[in-house]
Amino acid sequence: MKCPYCGSQEYRVLDTRDTDDGIRRRRECTQCSGRFTTYERLAPTVWVIKRDGRREEFEMEKVMAGVRKACAKRPVSSETIERMVSEIQDAVMAGGKAEVSSRAIGDMVMERLRHIDKVAYVRFATVYVPLTDLDSIRREIEEVMSESVETEV
Ligand SMILES: [Zn+2]
Repeated sequence: MKCPYCGSQEYRVLDTRDTDDGIRRRRECTQCSGRFTTYERLAPTVWVIKRDGRREEFEMEKVMAGVRKACAKRPVSSETIERMVSEIQDAVMAGGKAEVSSRAIGDMVMERLRHIDKVAYVRFATVYVPLTDLDSIRREIEEVMSESVETEV
C-alpha cells in the first residue's frame, strides 16, 4: 500500500475501528504527514468453477496474471490493468455468491479488454474461450489479423 499523496510506503496507524463490514484504519504518512483511511473488508471466499468442473479459490492475482500476459508488449499501463482487475474483483464479491464460473470472469475481462486493446482482447479470448465459441468474436480476430499485417508492411 502506498501513500495516496507521495507514494511512500511508510505510515503509522492513528486509529483502528471495527465497523459492520470490516476494519477502518486512519493512517498518517511518515514522509509527507498526509492522512488517509484504509478499509479492510471482510470478504467471503468465492470459488471459481472451472470449465472441467474443478473448483479453486478466487484469487485476484491469477486474473491479473492472465491479463498481464494478454497485454504483454501492448500499450496498456499497469495502472489500467490493476484498475480493471480490481473492478472485476468488486463485481465478483458484490455478486454475493459463493461460486462464480471461470467463464463469467473471462467474460468480464473480455468486455473490458475489448475497449482497451483489441490485440490483448483477442489474445485473452483465444486462451479463455472454448474453440467452439471463438466464432462469436471472429470479426474482431480478423480485424486484429489484418491490422498486424498492415503494420508489418
Ligand atoms: Zn505521503
